[in-house]
Amino acid sequence: MKKSQARLKAEYMAEAEELFDELMAWDESTAEPDMAQIEEIVLRLRKRIGKRMAETVLAQQESGQPVERIRCPECEKEMENKGQKESDFETRVGNLKIERSHYYCPRCRRGFFPLG
Ligand SMILES: [Zn+2]
Repeated sequence: MKKSQARLKAEYMAEAEELFDELMAWDESTAEPDMAQIEEIVLRLRKRIGKRMAETVLAQQESGQPVERIRCPECEKEMENKGQKESDFETRVGNLKIERSHYYCPRCRRGFFPLG
């Protein structure tokens, strides 16, 4: 397992453990939950682990990117690597936050994330 993958797994497992503990704490504090309440807590926790799964896959893709020259999609000129930058975007599994390589084209004066 790659070092970056081991770190991602540790973060993922920590979150899964946290969610489990939250679920158990909820169960203890909720006397006789009905099905609607159970659905509600499960959907809420599921959303968080779903986000984590998507962020994990994106971080893994990012670490697998070869450090090579990236050309501007507009003018084809070589772009400058501006290092890691946090970006967040809306997806069907929620709002995701990840660190991604950020590129800049001085000619078009335009920033760019290779993963779109
Ligand atoms: Zn350009």
